[in-house]
Amino acid sequence: QPSIVWFRDDLRLADNPALRAAIDRGEPVIGLYVLDEQSDGIRPLGGAAKWWLDGSLRSLSARLTERGSTLVLRRGRAASVVEEVVKDAGADAVFWSRRYGGAEREVDAALKSALRGSGVTVASFGASLLFEPWTVQTGAGTPYSVFTPFWRACQSMPAPRAPLPEPREIPGPQSEPTSDDLDDWALLPTDPDWAGGLRETWEPGEPAARARLREFLAEDLAEYDRSRDEPSAGATSGLSPRLRWGELSPHTVWHETIESGHPAGRFLSELGWREFASHVLYHHPDLATKNLRPEFDAFPWPRLRPAQLRAWQQGRTGVPLVDAGMRELWRTGVMHNRIRMVTASFLVKNLLIDWRRGEEWFWDTLVDADGASNPFNWQWVAGSGADAAPYFRVFNPELQAKKFDPHSEYIRQWAPEYGPDAADLAPPPIVDLAQSRKDALAAYERMRRTS
Ligand code: FAD
Repeated sequence: QPSIVWFRDDLRLADNPALRAAIDRGEPVIGLYVLDEQSDGIRPLGGAAKWWLDGSLRSLSARLTERGSTLVLRRGRAASVVEEVVKDAGADAVFWSRRYGGAEREVDAALKSALRGSGVTVASFGASLLFEPWTVQTGAGTPYSVFTPFWRACQSMPAPRAPLPEPREIPGPQSEPTSDDLDDWALLPTDPDWAGGLRETWEPGEPAARARLREFLAEDLAEYDRSRDEPSAGATSGLSPRLRWGELSPHTVWHETIESGHPAGRFLSELGWREFASHVLYHHPDLATKNLRPEFDAFPWPRLRPAQLRAWQQGRTGVPLVDAGMRELWRTGVMHNRIRMVTASFLVKNLLIDWRRGEEWFWDTLVDADGASNPFNWQWVAGSGADAAPYFRVFNPELQAKKFDPHSEYIRQWAPEYGPDAADLAPPPIVDLAQSRKDALAAYERMRRTS
């Protein structure tokens, strides 16, 4: 009887323990992906994420087919869809990689017991994180809320397991359960087609992910420490969507980085921040909607400011570094980490707009939009999160530009009207940086007095 591998955030063949377990049973293997926009609490994907998913599923499907197996696509409430496919295929085993969001864990736990109740073998595997969140604990047995001791604790644990090799052959079923046609899911934009910049920038799928990892290790890692903060240097890995969709496992990145022989503590600790964000999400499932520090519930956000929010989204704030960042995001589906911090700080502190509005925009426009890292980092910038930047740290976009983009290369690339030749085309800033900073600090003081 066939085994089903339910793919979710692990769209790869290499180092995929669920796929390996299915192959090792020696029975036919059926891959399954369920587009679930119905289960309670599951957050629908944003537009850029759907674009990525479409490409990554096409690649995965082709790779499974090449090796003898298949990818079945279905849409609907995951729990009932998986049970249906099990019946249609006459399968007696289902394997998957774990997820860490609250709603996802509930779906998976309920399905696991329902399937087991009907005699189906079910096993789940740790494949998306180096350290399972519940295994990293303080001496008192509590979760960590500060990064440095968290990462120290991780490093004193057994090293992440070595990655599993990519299977060459995957036995397929004699008859396949019916599958949706990916075109009918309409994950890609049509009218207007805003995805031109994404197509120019990215090639979703496992082969391109592996190629970028190799290139990064050979060409960029040695410069990473020195240049990682310069947005125009192209010195970071660009692996965030690969890790988000699981085209690469963190184990593969970890081990290949160490084997490259370059000093890599700083780069590996960035993977540590990714682990920490999931650790925090696991222990605080409402990370995307609720302040981790409850005193922020009393923050006096002024009334909604739709015009300012729109100007920020469109990169028309009149502040060069902010506008460059927001346009990079719209065009490429990513933004350099330092500029994410600057644009987020500008929204929350200079425009005094609730961090959740910014988180939602990033969720919709990032190809690496992640249920843990996105809200975690927004709360970090807003000061309401775990181990967060103190609220009174307001990034000054002008000083940040001087320091990290001294020759304005980044600004000129994304917002050329701020260059010396075209300065008269640039709009004036929609807010006074010094005054708005004072207003933000005053609002923070009001919050501290009322909470
Ligand atoms: P590299 O510098 O090469 O880092 C390697 C990997 O480490 C990244 O691919 C990523 O997986 C991980 N990483 C690095 N920094 C962080 C971090 N601060 N938090 C968590 N993981 C990190 N990252 C996402 O993957 N998804 C998001 O939705 C996301 N939203 C963010 C929102 C805000 C407001 C901010 C300030 C940061 C956000 N980040 C997010 C973190 C970070 O900006 C990106 O991971 C990074 O810019 C990706 O580029 P890279 O792959 O070249 O990073």
